[in-house]
Amino acid sequence: MTKHHFDTRLLHQEDFRDKQTGAVNVPLHYSSTFHQESIDEFGPYDYSRSGNPTRHALENTIAELENGEQGFAFASGMAAISSAFMLLSAGDHVLVSKDVYGGTFRVITEVLTQFDIEHTFIDMTDLDETARSVKPNTKVIYVETPSNPCLNITDIEGVAKVAKANGCLTFVDNTFMTPLLQKPLDLGADLVLHSATKFLSGHSDVVAGLAVTKNKEIGKRLKFVQNSFGSILGVQDCWLLLRGMKTLSVRLNQSSQTARDIAQYLHHHPIIEEVYYPGFSFHAGYPIHQRQSAGAGAVLSFRLPSKDCARVFVDQLKIPVFAVSLGAVESILSYPATMSHSAMPPAERAKRGITDGLLRLSVGLENADDLLEDIKQALAAVEQHAPAAQV
Ligand SMILES: *Cc1c(COP(=O)(O)O)cnc(C)c1O
Repeated sequence: MTKHHFDTRLLHQEDFRDKQTGAVNVPLHYSSTFHQESIDEFGPYDYSRSGNPTRHALENTIAELENGEQGFAFASGMAAISSAFMLLSAGDHVLVSKDVYGGTFRVITEVLTQFDIEHTFIDMTDLDETARSVKPNTKVIYVETPSNPCLNITDIEGVAKVAKANGCLTFVDNTFMTPLLQKPLDLGADLVLHSATKFLSGHSDVVAGLAVTKNKEIGKRLKFVQNSFGSILGVQDCWLLLRGMKTLSVRLNQSSQTARDIAQYLHHHPIIEEVYYPGFSFHAGYPIHQRQSAGAGAVLSFRLPSKDCARVFVDQLKIPVFAVSLGAVESILSYPATMSHSAMPPAERAKRGITDGLLRLSVGLENADDLLEDIKQALAAVEQHAPAAQV
């Protein structure tokens, strides 16, 4: 059978129709344990940490959508990322994009170091620097593209080639794009990671993480880690995530369209110093992003002249929620310096362009004109306050 389009596959997966009852939604299997027929005859499930039918449906679904073979659901994005790092051993080394998610930075610098797993942060948009930075004990190259919060673009295929040439694995955090817009496994990555808390679930009501691979050996080892370490996603959250994912394509396409309008508007506004948005043809990573992704997504960041300006903007803006997180039906404005990247020391933040005037906007499903009007009036207030606040 030919594969249907992505938006159709979001709605029709084999696991969605309950074989026993015909129910069109995956049943909630609230069972920690499963009855076995005899002492030497076991069914497909024994204990829910090792496997649960509701979780299994979710794991199969994300595996299918990422063009992978095996999917894994974890209690959070960080649980997925940390579990993936458990494929490493003491003495191994990881190469990491310098502007990774703050929580990933924290686990690499403060947890993995406890187990003698070394790291180097590099500018992964530079493939030469990436190749030069590989050490004899490098086992994983860890990519986040577009990166957070400055939306830098890394060439996934290029990095995967460097990794393969050096016998390392490529891990890609695909949270910002989702498989709707970017499929890292098709580009040579070995493992895809998600904070499913964001666009995949989409409603700010679940914390969840996912991982997908098509490499049987990695799949086997990650399954072992998932069962041993045990940071699995609970049944109810699996179900909520399965429901959220059905509308991924309409949500993300609509939000991306509005994000484009907002990025254009901000780009032309005199008080905005810089807009970070991978859909601009003058964005340094634009050609690579165009090649490896099907869209610019719904997240953009922009820089106001100072912290005071950012404060006025945040105080004046009415519609977006002011919060950490992203990828939801409601627009979410955040202040990376004290929110997503608070785990990063100020000097490290400065190196990554996370200045005190930087704001990140994850565009939701509100009416685009309402959002633009809201931004317009908040910027007018900033302009009024700016001269005094700035100097
Ligand atoms: C939120 C986020 C994470 C962490 O996921 P949680 O679900 O919050 O644990 C990892 N990577 C990126 C890019 C994120 O945005």
